[in-house]
Amino acid sequence: MTASLLPPAPAKAAPKISFVSLGCPKALVDSERILTHLRAEGYELARRHDGADVVIVNTCGFLDSAKAESLSAIGEAMAENGRVIVTGCMGAQPEEIREKYPNLLAVTGPQAYESVVAAVHEAVPPAHDPFLDLVPPQGVKLTPRHYAYLKISEGCNNRCTFCIIPSLRGDLVSRPAGDVLREAEKLVKAGVKELLVVSQDTSAYGVDIRYASSPWRDREVRAKFYDLAAELGTLGAWVRMHYVYPYPHVDEVIPLMAEGKILPYLDMPLQHASPSVLRRMRRPGNQERQLERIRRWREICPDLAIRSTFIVGFPGETEAEFEELLTWIREAKLERVGCFEFEPVGGAVANGLGDPVPPEVKAERKRRFMEAQQTVSVRLQKARIGKRLPVLIDAADGTVAKGRSKYDAPEIDGTVHITSRRPLRVGDIVTVKIERADAYDLYGSAV
Ligand code: SF4
Repeated sequence: MTASLLPPAPAKAAPKISFVSLGCPKALVDSERILTHLRAEGYELARRHDGADVVIVNTCGFLDSAKAESLSAIGEAMAENGRVIVTGCMGAQPEEIREKYPNLLAVTGPQAYESVVAAVHEAVPPAHDPFLDLVPPQGVKLTPRHYAYLKISEGCNNRCTFCIIPSLRGDLVSRPAGDVLREAEKLVKAGVKELLVVSQDTSAYGVDIRYASSPWRDREVRAKFYDLAAELGTLGAWVRMHYVYPYPHVDEVIPLMAEGKILPYLDMPLQHASPSVLRRMRRPGNQERQLERIRRWREICPDLAIRSTFIVGFPGETEAEFEELLTWIREAKLERVGCFEFEPVGGAVANGLGDPVPPEVKAERKRRFMEAQQTVSVRLQKARIGKRLPVLIDAADGTVAKGRSKYDAPEIDGTVHITSRRPLRVGDIVTVKIERADAYDLYGSAV
């Protein structure tokens, strides 16, 4: 046998994927999973559509405006590249997309990771190099390295009348607690300082699998909101709970916040406070006793920060119902609040539930709502002046930095603007003395 005198063949260039991720943090987690899988197979990420072998657009179909944004992102990808795979919530209604863009390579629905990957294989086969370890053990993160979203379930068992997510994503499917905890542990080992727990309905975690136990470390852990929160609280990272509804069993988790095991923060989208509107919205949880429940939580954990979102101008919303909401928001004194004008979503039951509220009335109610909340926010923010708060640094430029206290989630809440004598680094947790506040942000110096 003679050795070949030919030079080795040049390594085949790795195929490149350009990726657009639209929508909520849950969709972002889907994007990360798809990318982790593709990176493991040797695909690379392209910065621009025109240099990529294929473009994947992970769409959002929650509101009509989100659909329009998704369609425009698909249009852009088609114009700049032409080889496009569509996935995500809008992919559950392929006809609508195909009608506009008949030449797409594939359209797959939400959570259809395997179909997306199969479509990519068909469009451009992987050039896998088994000797290279292409993926960091914690997977590919689209969020900065110091925080990460942790998705604990898919789908939703509720049927809120303004929402079509259950028809797009199906009923609740919870991940075993052991899987979630292993992922969380890997993330923390890789340097993640804050875990943001997301799902459609975090407090319903495990209902579908009857809270089944699964092994983690040397023990069995139940797939239950409390058990998961308690175990996550042992990992040494900030743990922030999103999309929690005011079910009675949420009460059990508040002491974990009071003890500093998880952050004293609840993202609880309440949507309204008028019992009649809540009934028409068919919201989960015991919504009519919200104030009482919140009051009790604050007795146990006075530090608790609650963020919520509300919809004004729901079909048939009367002035009296809106006034109920205004009174409620003044009494509840929530730390962070978002307000949206009702927008009909194609296929949602709510669209036919009452007379539509005219656009100018919706806008006026939103303005009044935000004004009422602004007064609450300013007062709560001012109460933080003089306090020393731990702050997680999100961005730093030498001795000037921006970060978040435990009361603020990334992207949706406020920022702490910091000056410091020593240089700060992204991912550091520093103590900041708060010197000034406005309705959204805090300002202070590192001590
Ligand atoms: S809880 Fe309601 S709004 Fe949230 S995903 Fe489920 S059905 Fe939609």
